Amino acid sequence: MFDSFNRRINYLRISVTDRCNLRCTYCMPAEGIVLMPHSEILSFEEIIEVVDAAIAMGVDKVRITGGEPLVRKGIVNLVEMIASKPAILDLGMTTNGQLLEQFALPLKNAGLHRINVSLDTLNPEKYSQITRGGDINKVLRGIKASVEAGLSPVKINCVIVKSTSEPDAVEVAEYGKKMGLQVRFIRQMDLEKGEFYIVDGGSGGDCSTCNRLRLTANGMIKPCLFNDMEYNVREHGAVQALQYALGNKPSCGTVNKHGEFYNIGG
Ligand code: SAM
Repeated sequence: MFDSFNRRINYLRISVTDRCNLRCTYCMPAEGIVLMPHSEILSFEEIIEVVDAAIAMGVDKVRITGGEPLVRKGIVNLVEMIASKPAILDLGMTTNGQLLEQFALPLKNAGLHRINVSLDTLNPEKYSQITRGGDINKVLRGIKASVEAGLSPVKINCVIVKSTSEPDAVEVAEYGKKMGLQVRFIRQMDLEKGEFYIVDGGSGGDCSTCNRLRLTANGMIKPCLFNDMEYNVREHGAVQALQYALGNKPSCGTVNKHGEFYNIGG
């Protein structure tokens, strides 16, 4: 499918939950968030309806995100359901890695291709500070388990304040090199202020080549992370909501006053 600016849209990012087992300082307020009522969260069947409609329109790439996707009950089953679609050529997940050690092999066996693990520093205390209580050793064991399980590629998402020469970024880059993993540096963004940047080592942030639509955990199709527009799949049906999002995808991001990274999925 092509949007009105002739960009080929083939990538659907699915946020499967707004819940997270971490509280990263740049992503969530310290006091936590008002969680979506369970009745609002799409069931796997509803998510698959959207995936099928997206496939019919030309989507061949899906990434599962959150919140933290590994806290969604039955996530391996959802991966299996999506991976079983022959049209999906590329199935990835973005995770904070806290539960990855136990999930890496089941995810691979369910058909997940690739995984991105968020890791902003190699300093255990700083990691715990940034994530408000996360255990870096769990992440490192999760990364190792992912490589051993054969997920490929395993990439690191490293949020930086400004520059890749920050000491934490340099250390993460060295760790990536040592482990043979690609590191993507994501400059800290602000949805409300409309501050977004091209991802160093990735494809995000460049509006002219954006190929994405997003599905939030409560069933909104969003044409753009940096825009308030969203179309409810329960209200319009999956096909129509996707069509509206495609037709209204803006040429470039501006601001998003209502959404947050933790419920849209970064
Ligand atoms: N919980 C998972 C994780 O931590 O990877 C998936 C969801 S998280 C919202 C997805 C990505 O968004 C992470 O790599 C995270 O670092 C990034 N992210 C969150 N807030 C951000 C911000 N303000 N600026 C840039 N990236 C952000």
